[in-house]
Amino acid sequence: DEDESLVQGAFTTPEERSRSKAVGVLAVVGRPNVGKSTLVNRILGRRAAVVEDTPGVTRDRVSYDAEWAGTDFKLVDTGGWEADVEGIESSIASQAEIAVQLADAVLLVVDGTVGLTASDERIVKMIRQSGKPVTLAVNKVDSQADEYLSAEFWKLGLGEPFGISAMHGRGIGDLLDEALEKLRSAEKTSGLLTPTDLRRVALIGRPNVGKSSLLNRLAGEDRAVVNDLAGTTRDPVDEVVTVDDEDWLFIDTAGIKRRLHKLSGAEYYSTLRTQAALERSELALVLFDVSQPISDQDLKVMSQAVDAGRAIVLVFNKWDLLDDFGRQRIERLWKTEFNRVTWAQRVNLSAKTGWHTNRLTGAMHTALESWDKRIPTGKLNSFLGQLQAAHPHPLRGGKQPRILFATQASNRPPRFVIFATGFLEHGYRRYIERSLREEFGFEGSPIQISVNIRE
Ligand code: GDP
Ligand code: GDP
Repeated sequence: DEDESLVQGAFTTPEERSRSKAVGVLAVVGRPNVGKSTLVNRILGRRAAVVEDTPGVTRDRVSYDAEWAGTDFKLVDTGGWEADVEGIESSIASQAEIAVQLADAVLLVVDGTVGLTASDERIVKMIRQSGKPVTLAVNKVDSQADEYLSAEFWKLGLGEPFGISAMHGRGIGDLLDEALEKLRSAEKTSGLLTPTDLRRVALIGRPNVGKSSLLNRLAGEDRAVVNDLAGTTRDPVDEVVTVDDEDWLFIDTAGIKRRLHKLSGAEYYSTLRTQAALERSELALVLFDVSQPISDQDLKVMSQAVDAGRAIVLVFNKWDLLDDFGRQRIERLWKTEFNRVTWAQRVNLSAKTGWHTNRLTGAMHTALESWDKRIPTGKLNSFLGQLQAAHPHPLRGGKQPRILFATQASNRPPRFVIFATGFLEHGYRRYIERSLREEFGFEGSPIQISVNIRE
């Protein structure tokens, strides 16, 4: 049945899909310090809000799998997203907006001890415009005697304000019963539940590198807005783009096209938006404007994609603007600034003229194949055995750390766990990574290696 298939689209792998029965995506929003993180931790039972232990795995998670009274749902949390000091008002609004856009229903948190503020009201206005159902939590109502604090919030017009104490666990059950009831009956239009099996692509890069130009070039007339398919009139979130008869899902095209980004103080906003798009994508097209110097912000966006563990293709755009001298400058940069991603494919193109844009999909396929790849354990161990015989780890304090066994723990991106008798030096790990890449490919995908020491 249709509802089921919408929900299933949220999960990355077929295994995940068959396991999960999430009814939808719930966003927790509110201004800073109202207690969002405390509430999220309370709901998750302090499990998932901690950072994953593997370096290189997404730090700024956007969504978590949650469960309440036997109901599975996804929780979008903005609590950990720091507001920057300048433009604090606009970043609160942006955080909330992104979270709401990603969700099917909203849990708005306000602070009962502070009372209603202008920021609360701005957030309410934005939620109203989204048309998504909302449940109101008045936090820091730590005892029955404090219940009167909730009354003031009736005037927001969002229905019953639920007085809760995230810290002491008070009133959480009633609140979640209501929020999940609304979530169950909500229209499922969240970005996280995009109804598709298509490969998901994030088009990222700092403002003006040519993201919307490239999107338009690739899409031509041949595009479909996903939210339109779902029968709604909201801002398009994602779009199906057909390139050479093949469909791809481009994530957060609304964000790509929005001119607002280019206004001052918007860097923080784009960072969040990029993070949210990466979280939902499999592959990142990282754009650079080769007519300009490569900036720290360019490299930061690229690192975001690598750290999020996404397959990547580097797109050197505006190639039409380069002369011989410019091309030499780029080749020098390629050897220095990009040494972190020597494994990535780079496509020089011009979104404006269309030159070489037909080379993109080949690189995208290669990167995704690498990202999906699994190396059988037997093959992996015989390879590492040979590698170790040819180049043993250098002695450390008279001892020789040895690799005992290795396995590929997961893919998307490939993650290897090596069991060794002692600490493996950084240089040796890099040597292992280089050799794995030479032997098995992995072009376009980050790979992660962790070492487990067995005495
Ligand atoms: P966030 O910025 O909205 O994520 O807020 P936090 O969860 O970080 O909480 C802000 C502050 O409020 C922290 O000092 C919390 O300990 C405190 N706090 C959170 N929930 C409650 C509550 O239910 N009662 C009281 N008294 N304090 C709370
Ligand atoms: P976005 O902010 O990353 O979406 O960038 P836009 O697509 O809005 O492009 C910013 C500016 O660069 C616009 O004036 C585009 O016309 C221009 N532009 C984009 N791609 C190219 C290109 O390949 N060559 C040239 N010469 N200009 C380009």
